Amino acid sequence: MLIYNSLARDKESIQPLEDNHIRMYTCGPTVYNFAHIGNFRAYTFEDILRRTLLFNGYRVTQVMNLTDVDDKTIRGALAAGVSLNEFTHPFIKAFFEDLTKLNIQKAEFYPSATGHVPEMIALIEKLFERGLAYRSEDGSVYFNVANFEGYGKLSRLDRANLRAGARVAQDEYEKENYGDFALWKGWDASDGDVMWDSPWGRGRPGWHLECSAMSIKYLGETFDLHTGGIDNLFPHHENEIAQAEGATGKPFVRYWMHCAHLRVNGEKMSKSLGNFFTLRDLLGQGWSGREIRYVLINGHYRQPLNFTFTALEAARAALARIDGCVEALTELASGAETGTAPDAIAKALNDFTKAVNDDLGMPEAFAALFALVRESNSLVQQKKLSAEAAAAILEVFDRMDTVLGLVRFGNADNTGAIPAEVELLLKERAAVRAAKDWAGSDRIREQLASMGWEVRDSKDGPKVRKVT
Ligand code: AMP
Ligand code: ZN
Repeated sequence: MLIYNSLARDKESIQPLEDNHIRMYTCGPTVYNFAHIGNFRAYTFEDILRRTLLFNGYRVTQVMNLTDVDDKTIRGALAAGVSLNEFTHPFIKAFFEDLTKLNIQKAEFYPSATGHVPEMIALIEKLFERGLAYRSEDGSVYFNVANFEGYGKLSRLDRANLRAGARVAQDEYEKENYGDFALWKGWDASDGDVMWDSPWGRGRPGWHLECSAMSIKYLGETFDLHTGGIDNLFPHHENEIAQAEGATGKPFVRYWMHCAHLRVNGEKMSKSLGNFFTLRDLLGQGWSGREIRYVLINGHYRQPLNFTFTALEAARAALARIDGCVEALTELASGAETGTAPDAIAKALNDFTKAVNDDLGMPEAFAALFALVRESNSLVQQKKLSAEAAAAILEVFDRMDTVLGLVRFGNADNTGAIPAEVELLLKERAAVRAAKDWAGSDRIREQLASMGWEVRDSKDGPKVRKVT
């Protein structure tokens, strides 16, 4: 599987450190508001990446942090007159609801920054030992960028531009302000009651620190893959590398991947520009999570994606085409039609696999899916497709769907678990079929359908799927 590594600025074949196991860290949301669909472009890109790794047979351990303390969350809590926890809790809850709405698979760990302050303090202590941290007059602690030789390797900064001793206290800043950044921020009145004790006095961690501390805790000092939106590359990811490698003396991450922005009218969709839609805004307008997912994943992740309502309408039409095809095939697959199995089946899966394995080539992957839809529709119309071939095509759609998460969207709990009552009906159905009671079998099929489960009989016995 080839991926574009931002560190190497080249496509590379991904080779995990541990046999067949990819350890990956994805920068998660700052929970001071509802995530907007620009953020979800990043999370759906990471979902496609995760699913493609699984598609290739890798085991994946994914960690996504929840930034529940930083400049923005503290400002929000103070403005709302509630504690930091009370302020962030509803946004964390909303975030998980949104992930489900978009059929994004769950990561293995969602550590929160406020739950890992001791780990962050320990990391700063290591940086002191290695001469990479210093205290400022106001009780804050800064990373000494000039003392860390590797600084700038990800963003390819020119070290000549480093102004010795220049410091930035804010969590987010531009390349022009390249300088020493805050590891620990000494308490001041604008922090309200948000503070932790540390060897350097009361204060709170800087934003960048949490990702280094939590990724090391859950994934080890060196791990495979780290992702985020392109705006995270500098300073956030550059600083993560400095903190982690500065403290451990080991390489931090082997492959870095970044997605381009979701744009509106040529500008990055962002809260500060005010040009954003949350998922809730769009659901409220009658668009489905499935349609929104379609728009977000239907492009190459390294290309900016322009958000339009025309794209949502096109998604609705494309999904209807897919659904129509799946419906026709499902009907045919349960019958006894004879005919041929077209070569297009193997070719479509081949093209799809090649596409996703070449740096997540989603445009080509969708092209392979629709080529099969076209071919199937035409064969169904000409009555040339056998029941067996129809079932085989459905299996190819299912295989593709392990990456896309679009064709069979209903199974949004990601577990694929079949409820006990469905299992029971399936057993009953097997019994009546064994007794050749076809009417009874149909009755149970209808009952399952009314519960939202579709049964298909294949060579290996009956299969059920949740349908929307
Ligand atoms: P934040 O909550 O601002 O820390 O951002 C969470 C994630 O969303 C990060 O990976 C960002 O890089 C990403 N992100 C923010 N805005 C956009 C956008 N317009 N398009 C794509 N990704 C974005
Ligand atoms: Zn991060």
